Amino acid sequence: MEFWFTEDQSANLRIGCRILETIHSEVTPFQKLAVINTAQFGRMLVLDNVIMTTIKDEFVYHEMITHVALNTHAKPKKVLIIGGGDGGAVREVVKHAGVENVVLVEIDGRVIEVSKKYLPEISCALEYPKVRVIIDDGIKHVQDHKNTYDVIIIDSTDPIGPAVGLFSAEFYQAVFESLTEDGLFVAQTESPFYNNSLISRIQSDVSGIYPITRLYLANIPTYPGGLWSFTVGSKKYDPLKADTSKFPDLQTRYYSPSVHEACFVLPPFVKELVR
Ligand code: SAM
Repeated sequence: MEFWFTEDQSANLRIGCRILETIHSEVTPFQKLAVINTAQFGRMLVLDNVIMTTIKDEFVYHEMITHVALNTHAKPKKVLIIGGGDGGAVREVVKHAGVENVVLVEIDGRVIEVSKKYLPEISCALEYPKVRVIIDDGIKHVQDHKNTYDVIIIDSTDPIGPAVGLFSAEFYQAVFESLTEDGLFVAQTESPFYNNSLISRIQSDVSGIYPITRLYLANIPTYPGGLWSFTVGSKKYDPLKADTSKFPDLQTRYYSPSVHEACFVLPPFVKELVR
């Protein structure tokens, strides 16, 4: 008998992954959570039937949501990650020697515990000394911490449930106030194929608050449509003006100084979304 996990990537499209083993499943106070081992992408974390991260392709997402922002800021010392309970963004952030404090604010503590147990390759840095984990709503955290962070990384689920507010103009304004005077933020902002009106709205909201707004792309095979977007809002530093020749060697597999430059080159159908 064959077992398949299917995710509805849109109302008319599904992705199916052949399951070798269901390792863990539970219902937390916030969402359905499962870890499954699949033939194509290895172990994967699934929340509310949506693929969050897989052993085979997580490096793309985690490198691109962290290094673009951290190499753009001249001297990032204090970094906040909202969401990101699998620990992958933390693993990449601690590669930056100049970063002194990493605060992870995840609303669902069960995501962290399960990732520590079943996804050690991804969650491996969650107990590093410079990392502080807080179980709380990221929206409340930024409201309570003004003028605190050099870089804020919003590694959230899709805009459903507790994450809806993380895609709002009010939240981007609160993030602006939580950043230091030369701070910047980056957020995962969904698919240019299936969420183009959301991306347009976010670009217009962020450019109404931040002097510098940019969109960049990466290819993540298990995410809807494969092509994924990230939005940067910055008070001072422009990722397009970063001196890539000065970037540290971070032992990465997707991100590089030339990928940093290339990921902002947008095809015309995506460029339309940032006008
Ligand atoms: N890379 C994944 C993606 O793009 O779909 C996201 C991975 S990470 C596991 C997403 C995390 O965001 C989840 O663990 C979820 O519990 C958390 N989250 C959702 N809303 C949140 C909020 N308001 N504050 C803090 N964490 C939140």
